[in-house]
Amino acid sequence: MTAGTNEDTGFAELGLRDELLKALTTLGYEEPTPIQREAIPPMLAGRDLLGQAATGTGKTAAFSLPLLQTIPSPGGDNPSALILVPTRELAVQVSEAIHRYGKDLGTRVLPIYGGQPIGRQLRALENGVDVVVATPGRALDHISRGTLHLHDLRVVVLDEADEMLDMGFAEDIEAILQETPEDRQTVLFSATMPPRIDGLARSHLNDPVRIQIGREPTAAGEAPLVRQVAYVVTRAHKPAALGRVLDVEAPGAALVFCRTRDEVDQLTETLNGRGYRAEALHGGMGQEQRDRVMARLRNGTADLLVATDVAARGLDVEHLTHVVNYDVPSAPESYVHRIGRVGRAGREGVAITLAEPREHRMLKTIERVTKQRISIEKVPTVADLRARRLELTRAALHESLVADDASLSQFRVVVETLSDEFDLMEIAIAAVKLAHEAAGIGDGDQEEIPEITLRAPREAGSYGDRPGSGDRSGPGRRVAVRDADGRGRGREASGRRVPAGGMTRLFVGAGRAAGIRPQDLVGAITGESSLSGRDIGAIEITDRFSLVEVPEGSVDEVIDTLRRTTLKGRRPVVRRERFQP
Ligand code: AMP
Repeated sequence: MTAGTNEDTGFAELGLRDELLKALTTLGYEEPTPIQREAIPPMLAGRDLLGQAATGTGKTAAFSLPLLQTIPSPGGDNPSALILVPTRELAVQVSEAIHRYGKDLGTRVLPIYGGQPIGRQLRALENGVDVVVATPGRALDHISRGTLHLHDLRVVVLDEADEMLDMGFAEDIEAILQETPEDRQTVLFSATMPPRIDGLARSHLNDPVRIQIGREPTAAGEAPLVRQVAYVVTRAHKPAALGRVLDVEAPGAALVFCRTRDEVDQLTETLNGRGYRAEALHGGMGQEQRDRVMARLRNGTADLLVATDVAARGLDVEHLTHVVNYDVPSAPESYVHRIGRVGRAGREGVAITLAEPREHRMLKTIERVTKQRISIEKVPTVADLRARRLELTRAALHESLVADDASLSQFRVVVETLSDEFDLMEIAIAAVKLAHEAAGIGDGDQEEIPEITLRAPREAGSYGDRPGSGDRSGPGRRVAVRDADGRGRGREASGRRVPAGGMTRLFVGAGRAAGIRPQDLVGAITGESSLSGRDIGAIEITDRFSLVEVPEGSVDEVIDTLRRTTLKGRRPVVRRERFQP
C-alpha cells in the first residue's frame, strides 16, 4: 500500500468538498467509519436521517461534515444549523469538532448551554453565527428572549436524542422545533431506538433514511476464539492503564490500534518514553518505512506496533499474541477484523480494549453482534503489578534451576563463602532482589488509576414506562428510579433509600409545592455541570424539598452549579443532606 490520503481512502468518494477533506487529512483521519459512509451521502442529498449509533462510532463527523458542506459559510445574521445535545459537555465537544472540520470554510460555530454567562452568548449571537450547538433548556431561553432566531435554519440535528428525552427535554424539543422552518432537513441520532424516539422521528422527520450500526449479526464462527477483555478508563489515564496492562500481560508481540495518525504518533512516543519498544505504522508512511518497521517487529527489536486500521490492513504478522484497541472501534465489524489477527491456527490470543466510560455502550453492541462476551476487568493495581513482576522473577529462577545449567556451579563458591556469615535463606533473598532489579522489573510505575464503576446499561426500549419505585417523578424518569449499581437497594429506617455506593445525597430546598419536577433538577445539574443524566442517581421529591443523588466526587461542583442557577425562578438552599446513613 502506498501513502494514504483521503482522496484514495474514501472521504472524497462520499462527495465531500476539498476544504473538508483537507481538514480530515490534517486531523489524521484515514477513512470514513461505517456510520459516516452510510450517513454522509444521503445527508448531502438533503434527505432526513434517523441514525442509531452510540458514542465512538464517529457519529459527530457523520452529521457535521455534510452539514458544513450544505450550509452557507459564513452565512447571514441568523444561524443555518442547530444541533441539540443533552449536556454542556457534549455541546462543547460537538462545537469543537465542527470548528476543526469547518476551519477552512470559515464556519462560525457557537455552543450555548446553561451555566455560561448569557452575556457572552448574546454578543456572539449578535455578531452572527452559522451553527449553534445547544442544550434544549438554554436554546429555549434564548428563543424566548428573542436572541436566537431559527427561521433561517436549513438543518436541525437532534444528537443523543434518547438521552435528551430521558432527561425530560421532550417538551423543550417540541417547542424549539415549532420555531424552525417546515422545509428544514432534520437528522436524529440516538444510541437506542425505543418507541418514544420512533414517535419523535415520525412527527418531525420526513421520510428519513434509516441507519443502524451493528445491525447485522456476524456469522457464527467468524469471530475468532480469543480471550476478550476490556478496561474502562478515562482518557487521561489511558496511557498509564495501557502500560499497566501490557506489563501484566507481557505480550510476545502486540498490535495496538488507534483511530487517527496523530494518535498513533503520540501513543508511540508515550510508550517509548515509558520504556516499551513501540513502532508507529500509519497510512502516511511510505512502503520502505513500513517494511523497516515490520522487520523490527519480526526480528524482535520491537514488541509493539501502533497502527491505524488502514495501515494494518493486509499486514501479515505471524506471531502476534495480543491485539489492543486503544479506543473502542467504530463498528463491530472493525472489532472482529482487528481481533481476527490473533488466535490464528489454534494459537492462543488476547484482545484488549480500552473504553472510555461514555463508550461502554459500544462494547455491548459488539458483544451482541459477535455473540461473544467481552469481560470488563479492573485495571491491574500497583500491587497486582508488583505481584506479577515477582512472579516473573520467580518463573525465571525456576527455569534456571530446572534447566540443569552447568554454569551455575561457578556461583556456588559465592554462596558458600557468604554462608559462613549469613543464613542461606537470607542469601537467597538478597540474590533474588538483585536478579529482580537487574531484570529491569522494578517498581517505577506507582500511578494509581481510578476504578470506574459502570451502571448496568439501559436496554433499548426498556425505559420510558418503568414505574417509579416510590418516587413521585411520574413515568419515564429513568434517573429517578435507577440504582447506580443497577441493583435494588435497601431502605433506611425512615423509609428513604440508602444512597448507592459512591453516591452522595444532596438536599435541595424546593419540592413539589414549588412545581419542581425531576427533569428540572436533572436539567439544572447537567445543563450547567460536567455531569450527564447517566451520572445522576435517584431523585426523591417531597412537597417542600428534593433529594438528589450525585457521584461523591462531583458534589462540590453540583452544589456550586445549583447555587448559581434558578429553579422555577427561585434560588433554593442546596447542601449535602445531613442525614446520610
Ligand atoms: P464520536 O462517535 O462522534 O464521539 O467520535 C469518536 C471519536 O472518533 C472522536 O474522537 C473522533 O475524532 C474520532 N473519529 C471520528 N471519525 C473518524 C475517522 N473517520 N477516523 C478516525 N477517527 C475518527
